[in-house]
Amino acid sequence: MTIVDIRATTVTVPLEAPLRHANGCHWGRFVRTIVEVETDTGLIGLGEMGGGGESAEAVFRAMKGYLVGHDPVRLEEMRFLIANPTASLYNNRTQVLAALEFACLDIIGQAWGVPVCDLLGGRLRDRVPFAAYCFWRYGNPATGEGEVRTIDQLVKEATRLKSRFGFTSHKLKAGVFHPDYELDAYRALAAALPGDSYRFDPNGVFSTEQAIRFGQAIEDLRNDYFEDPVFGLSGMRRTREMVRIPLATNTVVVNFEQLAQNVLNTAVDVILLDTTFWGGIRACVKAAAVCETFQLGVAVHSSGELGIQLATMLHLGAVIPNLSFAADAHYHHLTDDVIEGGLMQYEDGKIRVPTRPGLGVTLNREKVREYAELYKRLGAYPYDQDPGRPGWTPILPNDRWADHRDDRWIRVPY
Ligand SMILES: [Mg+2]
Repeated sequence: MTIVDIRATTVTVPLEAPLRHANGCHWGRFVRTIVEVETDTGLIGLGEMGGGGESAEAVFRAMKGYLVGHDPVRLEEMRFLIANPTASLYNNRTQVLAALEFACLDIIGQAWGVPVCDLLGGRLRDRVPFAAYCFWRYGNPATGEGEVRTIDQLVKEATRLKSRFGFTSHKLKAGVFHPDYELDAYRALAAALPGDSYRFDPNGVFSTEQAIRFGQAIEDLRNDYFEDPVFGLSGMRRTREMVRIPLATNTVVVNFEQLAQNVLNTAVDVILLDTTFWGGIRACVKAAAVCETFQLGVAVHSSGELGIQLATMLHLGAVIPNLSFAADAHYHHLTDDVIEGGLMQYEDGKIRVPTRPGLGVTLNREKVREYAELYKRLGAYPYDQDPGRPGWTPILPNDRWADHRDDRWIRVPY
């Protein structure tokens, strides 16, 4: 079996409302590049990549020169072919490799008649638990609905998510407003949902001293973990010495070199594995095995996903024995998906692992066309800019917080 073609299509799919974060905003939609790898046997494997609001089509077109004629089963060779670690100093293609690995695993699973999780050791669970992903949000650009800015709105939204999807763990994506305001908000969230667990993630924008102060102020809550309070292994290590909550990261341990450093001189307790950031599902399974050996916690990170990427997260979540916490997913903020059957459904806060051969998802061509057209109309958006704060440049550690009293309705193209 050999690869004969690689196609890429950029789509943009609306979110319920723009999602604010410490470095900018998702402007009311996700931009994702859908990758199709075709073989001489007629099988087509699916991959997906983000890219900070931009299209990644061009890089996948360039990969045809490397991969046409390549056997999709030879995944380790593909890693060195397009993402050799020293050549990557010039061309970092970790995320590109990930999307192509998803597609090749999809092909292998279809060719051998087994779901991807069976290629990775076999499933340990049929459903993967997810956490609610609570964001500060601007109102929907068309209707103004769905704003989350006040603490009251946050509690209402978290309660709605719990009753609709059954979540028992709740994440607050923070680092947007002043830490004192976000501390009040996080504590209000915990008070409104007693018996559940919580996680707080300011995307690394606190100073170490702020991180320690904040961490100590939430020690009495039922925290899953305190995620990336500060950017850098040294700041995380100093915070960890002073705060009695497990620290988690999806930013400072995202490759094996960093994982080795974290084992030798531990700064983080829980490693949030991202099938894209790590370069594929298999890299995450390997990293989970290292974490199992050294008894570090593991969970599944979300860098924004449509159904193809979600399938990779489900197959990963199905096979790692040490999945210590509910996975994260932006998925419940989406209004639609590009896969057959529409959005995957949550049951009691969990999503079923696909059982069909390969990743177990197929494209709805009509939806792909619709959202590719929408991308052509709206174009890219800068993920690291906030449409409500033109000229704002967040720094590390940050002190340029947004004003929680600012109730403007930001009407971005939608
Ligand atoms: Mg994070």
